[in-house]
Amino acid sequence: MLKRKYLFPNVIELNYQAGRRLGVNVYLIDGGTEFALIDIGFEDTVEEIIDLIRGMDFNLAHCKMIIATHADADHIQGISRARELMKTKVASHPASVEPIETGDEILTYATIKAQGIEIPMPKCKIDLLLNEGDKLCIGKKELSVWHTPGHTPGQLSFKMGNLLFSGDNIYKDSCVGVIDAHHGSNIPDFIKSLKRIWADNSEFLLPSHGPVFRKDNKVIQQAIDRLTGYLSMADFGTCATNWPLLDEWEKDVLAGKMPDFSKK
Ligand SMILES: [Zn+2]
Repeated sequence: MLKRKYLFPNVIELNYQAGRRLGVNVYLIDGGTEFALIDIGFEDTVEEIIDLIRGMDFNLAHCKMIIATHADADHIQGISRARELMKTKVASHPASVEPIETGDEILTYATIKAQGIEIPMPKCKIDLLLNEGDKLCIGKKELSVWHTPGHTPGQLSFKMGNLLFSGDNIYKDSCVGVIDAHHGSNIPDFIKSLKRIWADNSEFLLPSHGPVFRKDNKVIQQAIDRLTGYLSMADFGTCATNWPLLDEWEKDVLAGKMPDFSKK
């Protein structure tokens, strides 16, 4: 039997467990009598993850569900395969159902044509819906479901005691999950989700990428400030809500005012 490397009581993360980078963070919530997985990652690591889970002496029949934190391919490309192999249920927010059930290549980010990224996106049936405020019982552990849209419309986070499984909302270095109109990013929603995390009393954040870390509101505030700036900048195109420079320019154009190069 493999020694279980618990990060916190009842929480194992499969990259740390494997001692190598598998991809996205895959959390196993060990509720004693049953367990659940938060995300699964790419299809080609599913079997290794299942072997690890079996190796740690978990009974696959006790897997209550695999949760899709959101519908991006790096988190859920393997979810259909895992559902089949583990004979378990798949859960997501209602806003993630369509991209996952139809295997939508654009909404799931499986295809980024301009960069030659093209991976298959197997369709997967969603068995359970998770909504804001739901309580999820995994054996003796209880998780509160948070809907935290912004990165994508269906992004979920989960609060369990002093831990927050924070998805792609914020990473240790203050970076956030990619802002891109193609998979439904929304900057005002993102800022709200970050403010909610800022105001929360959780002690540790368990993100979907990179290291688990102690919650530091300075790091979250930096992200809030950056994203607030993006609202009025052209950098993220249609995700911005206004662009003052263009408004000023339009005023000048309408007034027949030519650029004045004499002013610095
Ligand atoms: Zn991600």
